[in-house]
This record gives sequence, structure tokens and C-alpha cells, in this order.
Amino acid sequence: MENIEIFDSPGKGRGLRATKEMWAGDVIFAEPSLAAVVFDSLAEKICHSCFRRQPKLQRCGQCKFAHYCDRTCQRAGWAEHREECSAIKAFGKAPNESIRLVARVMWRLDKEGSVVSDMQLTTLEELEDHVTDMPEDELKELKVDIHNFLDYWPRTNKQHTVDDISHLFGVVNCNGFTISDQRGLQAVGVGIFPNLCLVNHDCWPNCTVILNHGNQSAVNSMFHSQRRIELRALGKISEGEELTVAYVDFLNLTEERQRQLKTQYFFDCTCEHCKNHIKDDLKLAGREIDGVKPSEEQVKEATDHCYKMLEKMDKARLNGDYHEVVTTCRECIEKTEPILADTHIYLLRMWSTLSEVQAYLQFFEDAAEYARKMVDGYMKLYHPNNAALGMAAMRAGVTHWQNGLIEVGHGMICKAYAILMVTHGPTHPITKDLEEMRMQTEMELRMFKQNEYVYHSMREAALKNRPMTMMNEPKSVEEGIKNLFHRKK
Ligand SMILES: [Zn+2]
Ligand SMILES: [Zn+2]
Ligand SMILES: [Zn+2]
Repeated sequence: MENIEIFDSPGKGRGLRATKEMWAGDVIFAEPSLAAVVFDSLAEKICHSCFRRQPKLQRCGQCKFAHYCDRTCQRAGWAEHREECSAIKAFGKAPNESIRLVARVMWRLDKEGSVVSDMQLTTLEELEDHVTDMPEDELKELKVDIHNFLDYWPRTNKQHTVDDISHLFGVVNCNGFTISDQRGLQAVGVGIFPNLCLVNHDCWPNCTVILNHGNQSAVNSMFHSQRRIELRALGKISEGEELTVAYVDFLNLTEERQRQLKTQYFFDCTCEHCKNHIKDDLKLAGREIDGVKPSEEQVKEATDHCYKMLEKMDKARLNGDYHEVVTTCRECIEKTEPILADTHIYLLRMWSTLSEVQAYLQFFEDAAEYARKMVDGYMKLYHPNNAALGMAAMRAGVTHWQNGLIEVGHGMICKAYAILMVTHGPTHPITKDLEEMRMQTEMELRMFKQNEYVYHSMREAALKNRPMTMMNEPKSVEEGIKNLFHRKK
């Protein structure tokens, strides 16, 4: 760790800073998880060792709870499942994910001591638990968890004080990092990465963090190597500059970000973007047409209408009623699009949802149009290397391509590729997919310019053979991976 050091960040406590200059896409550090667990709700759908989603998993014959891709994954995961396996059997069932995670951490620390690798910059004892900041209802839940933990923890294992157990629950609660599936599209579990816990928040950060599952063969050869996060630089970082990541999505107003940070992470953000309310005006702006702006009242009315329709749409989406989603979005967009700017965050959510659902329903023309609008808006709001912007550009690129708009499609895919090379790196599966799409669309574009007829017939064939991996069923409301750390709801 010769490129970073711990320091006292004014007003924030401990933090990390650069000890030498860094550039966009640099991996500042990579860190394997100290421990991680699959969410309760996905225990049968995600491998408990490599955290990949697989259509068919094998169950641990002993506890009948853990699931694995195959024998290799099971063997690789045995060191961290051994104690858990017999504890689950003795307890009669698997306890919830927080208890399972705290127990996995405890077993590992009991075995290896509080520093498990020479790269680890902090022990978990040194991290804050914020237990005293917890509101009444969370404290009550904590007590129940501790009670169950004590029942679950084997009598024959090393015993810990309630204070130590409570501290670990607190640490896991505010530092548990959300683990995504291998494509980075769905949150599937939660893990602890001690060094990452030292990186403070900024609403306009200079770093991003990405989970990289690596390739399958590397996974199996090295224990624990599978759940590795990388802290990557988003742009130039000077020597001595603090390293920061965003714990919450910038596509919220300052007030809303502050509220989320306070309730979930117990601090008041004093970053430049919060202090100066930067871009808040754009996020609720009216649309200027030929130099004429709508009145404040019109904008407010359209904003309120949009908000109400978003609630209605979320409900329909939750019920899987996609035609209702489309009708609601369309109506709302028709009414508010002439009044609201393309950076208005409610309108952006409408476009985003409509394009996602239309792509799923295979109406690519609509999907492409709204995805492009969404990307145009995002570009005015997000940091140019923001990962969410990259993912949005990818979605827009794919839908344009599917709709036969090869030139725009190729451009968007190139843009997405450039961003993801910084935020995800060249070995991430999504970057690799993008590279493949970039080459494919480049070739098609060349062909299109030479002979349109040949191009169209070839495109049909190419699209038929390629499953559009991006066009998953629309996710239920905001279950995406917008927030860095996982908090129990
Ligand atoms: Zn696996
Ligand atoms: Zn088992
Ligand atoms: Zn802030």
C-alpha cells in the first residue's frame, strides 16, 4: 500500500489519502472480502462461494442451506462455511443475513486474528459502530439479532462479550458493502471490506468502487479471491488529496442526499456540492424553448404531477403490470415534457423506466428514443466518468442498435465503453461485453456505409443469434445497486 495512507480528515474522522499522483482508471487498491453472505431471499439462487447467479445450483448435503455452482465452488467455500454448516444444523435453520455475516466475521477473526492480510489498514475494532446513534426501532432489532446470535453461536467456540458482538453488528450495519452478481446488475449479498470502510463519502467523489468476480478459473484456484473490490480513480488525483466515494446517488437533490446520509450513515455531508447546492436548480428546472421559460407555477405544477405519477408507476411496476407502467409514463411525459427540462430528475426517471420497460416488451423504437433523452440529461448532471452514466449509455446504445440506428448506437456504445474502462476496468464482464459490441457495431457501421441492403439482412441474422443480455425483466422498484452500502430496510 505505498500509494495511500490513513490520515485525520477534518470533520470526518479517519480517512484515506493519496501519497502520489493518480489518473483516471488507476486501481488504487484491490481488496478481497473479509467475509460475505448471500441475501436470505436469494439463498437458493446465488452460489454461496462465488456469488454468481446460476440457473441450477447444488445444495450442501449437511445444512441443506448453502448452495453452490459445483463441487469446485463448494470446496473453495468450505473454509468459511465449515463452522456455519454445523451451527445451522444445530440451530435448526439458517438465521438472517446480518447474523450469518457477523458469525462469519467472528469465525474468521477467531482463527486468523484481527488482521487477516498484510494489506489490511484497519481492524474492525477500530471502526465506528454508531450503535449509540441508532433510533429506538433499530436498537430493538439489534437486540433481537444479538439474542439470536447467542443461540446460534456454538457453545464450544470461543465466547465473546455482548459489547463485542453488538459492536460487530453495528460495523456490519453501516459498512456492509452491497455485492452484485457477476454482471453487476443485481444486488445479491453483502460483504465486509475493511480498507473500503476507511474511504469517506463525497457527493462528487474522485473514486468509484467496483466488485470484480474475476474469471471463473481464477476464482477456483484462489480462496477468497472471488469477491474482490477495486477502488478506481475517476480522474486525476493529486498527492495528498483525500480519496472519496459516493455512498448515495447524486441524482437526488441535496436535501434528499443529506437525509439519506444522516439516517443511514449518521453524518451531515459538508461537501462542496452540498454546501453550494450544485446542480439542484437543474434537477427541478423548467424547459426553455426559444428563450422562453415556463412560469414557476407551471414548473411546480408539472413537478407535482410527475411525482404523483411516479408513485402510481412504481406501484404498477411492483405488480409487474408493464402495460399500466407504459400508459402512466406516456401520459405523464406527454403532459410534462413541454414544461420540464431534460435534467429534471422526475422526468428522467419517467424516461428511464419507460425505455427499460419498452425494451423488455421489445418496442425498440420507443426504448431507443427515451434512452437517448435519459443519457442526454444524465450527461448534464453526472460526473463524466460516473458508472451509472456509463450503464445508461450502454443501454441506450444497445436499444439504438436493436432499432437499426447503427450510427447513434455505435457512438453510444463507444461512449459507454470509455466510461466503463475507467469505472469497471478491462477485465470486468460488462466491459468485455461492451468491447465485443463495439467491434460488432463498428463492423456493421462500415457495412452500412457501403451497402445498406446487405447491412439490414445481416443485422437481422446477427440480432437473432445474440441474446440481448441487457434486456432483463425490469427490476422491481429501485432494487438496483444505487447505494454503495447495504442497509437493512
Ligand atoms: Zn460458484
Ligand atoms: Zn452446509
Ligand atoms: Zn454532499
